[in-house]
Amino acid sequence: METGVTTELYPRERVGLVREAAAKAGLGAVLLTPGPDLRYVTGYDAKELERLTCLVVPAEGEAFLVVPRLELPAAQVSPAGSLGVELVPWDETDDPYALVARRLPSGLPKVGVADRMWAVMALRFRAAMPAAEQVAAGGVLRGLRIRKSAAEVAALREAGEAIDRVHRRVPGLLAAGRTEEEVARDIADAIVAEGHSRVDFVIVGSGPNGANPHAEPTDRVIRAGEPVVVDIGGTMPSGYCSDSTRNYCVGEPPAEYLAYYAVLEEAQRASCAAVRPGTTPEAVDAAGRDVIAAAGYGEHFFHRTGHGIGLESHEDPYIVSGNLEPLEPGMAFSIEPGIYPGPHGARIEDIVVCTEDGFDPLNVTGRGLVIVG
Ligand code: ZN
Ligand code: ZN
Ligand code: ZN
Repeated sequence: METGVTTELYPRERVGLVREAAAKAGLGAVLLTPGPDLRYVTGYDAKELERLTCLVVPAEGEAFLVVPRLELPAAQVSPAGSLGVELVPWDETDDPYALVARRLPSGLPKVGVADRMWAVMALRFRAAMPAAEQVAAGGVLRGLRIRKSAAEVAALREAGEAIDRVHRRVPGLLAAGRTEEEVARDIADAIVAEGHSRVDFVIVGSGPNGANPHAEPTDRVIRAGEPVVVDIGGTMPSGYCSDSTRNYCVGEPPAEYLAYYAVLEEAQRASCAAVRPGTTPEAVDAAGRDVIAAAGYGEHFFHRTGHGIGLESHEDPYIVSGNLEPLEPGMAFSIEPGIYPGPHGARIEDIVVCTEDGFDPLNVTGRGLVIVG
């Protein structure tokens, strides 16, 4: 993806949009160290190092990218190299924080720092610019990142297709007598083999572990008749993430499991069907939650319905009660209700994009229980 030219996915106008948003928010400058915000603005997938790399976007004046001399070649061949932003290398004995402060107007009252900036770096900036109050820059970037462009939706779809291919391989990896860890290792290999550059998480929750939504794979041996929750995701070379949950059973599942699985499928469909511009995340959450509560399983669905996804696997908007910010076309998020009564549990998760008049699912493998063996 580091092609040396800006692409449709990382268009060059974003630096200007950040400058406008910073000015509007009353920030004298925005300081972005390596992480999703820097990548969003420049396309540069910079390494997180103790040496400072920082895009500085002043509300007035030209943006510049401060890079350690050793990282200059990487920055030059990255999309950031063709943005028209000055690259400012610093040498081992330079103080890059003082360098940034010197190039900004002195006495700026307020600056935005990347949400994921290391605390040690924020503190070094505070010492270099003692007059500047620091606020989280995420609020400035949020308005840009929350609505995905057509190119971003295409990148998320590519990620969705890749993780769908992994789910199609799962029946061949699951078998009675294997441990969760063994299956999880094979799934991690498949996540990379199917096109991701990185594995973000692999949940293989068998039997009682399926009732824990964030179960880590263990040395537990999967037995016949046990449902297994498989929730997996990774990051593509584009920078965009995948996340999908499907449910499998080695042999015949218990009858009480099938009873609530049918309720869960209906709830997941109901939340998806509620997605359209103008609807609130709270209403999308309620659409599925009401189905689960009406069937008597309300207490066993104890997490929000979903989270936004893009350059981060969890980002705005969150699909949760209390979020009343209306959905807009281009917002991308998971719909992932679950029912966890024990001694097993289930969750169905798709990534969907809000369109002009409804939703577009980016995961398309069947949501039904997959019986293995
Ligand atoms: Zn989760
Ligand atoms: Zn998720
Ligand atoms: Zn997930």
